[in-house]
Amino acid sequence: MAARRLTSFLLSSTLAVAVGAVAIVASASPALAWHARPCANGYVGLTYDDGPTAATEPALLAALRAGHARATFFNIGSVEEQNPDGVLAQVRAGMWVGNHTWTHPHLTQIGEPAAFEEIRKTQVINRQILHRTPTLFRPPFGETNDQVRADEARLHLLEVLWTVDSRDWAGATTDEIVAAAATMKNRDIILMHDWPTNSTEAVPRILQGLRDRGLCPGKIAFTHRDISGVGQIFHAIAVRP
Ligand code: ZN
Repeated sequence: MAARRLTSFLLSSTLAVAVGAVAIVASASPALAWHARPCANGYVGLTYDDGPTAATEPALLAALRAGHARATFFNIGSVEEQNPDGVLAQVRAGMWVGNHTWTHPHLTQIGEPAAFEEIRKTQVINRQILHRTPTLFRPPFGETNDQVRADEARLHLLEVLWTVDSRDWAGATTDEIVAAAATMKNRDIILMHDWPTNSTEAVPRILQGLRDRGLCPGKIAFTHRDISGVGQIFHAIAVRP
């Protein structure tokens, strides 16, 4: 008798939990229906420079994966040489890997062939680690000129600057990084770094903000259009992956 009453109690509480779950699902669907077509308003490029930083990279990749987001990582070749597992982890997490020179110098000031070698050596280490060669290049500090562009062309690299600066490198707060990301429009590319913990903390809010505005993280591709950023014209935009 006691056992039957217990069974009956368990059944009714299970039912109550199940009804509660249905209610939660039902109340969630209007939000999901907000953008019937995800990415309806286009794509933006999330970029993270200067890695793969061993101390901070795993948490950043975990945050991006949790939000089903893909980003482009502009890695420093000498850092990749010290942390090849970090590069492999990026690719396993679905990220794209670009070239950000070997030692992060001011390319426009070091002359040739030093500048060319900075870019070429990073192509080589990526080929060794990933068995593929990057097609995207970001000059450190966004500093470029005709000589740097000629080096990029010899190595079949697309120069990728940015249209939105998160200023995470200058100590921006998580709120400030989220606010910068909130200004992005279709095709924009935002500069971030893999080492500021504020940038990792900002990821869930950045992704939620994009979803709310019908935007999705995209990959970076060539465009014939003139894009201005960092006082330069470049030819890269975010597109559907
Ligand atoms: Zn950098």
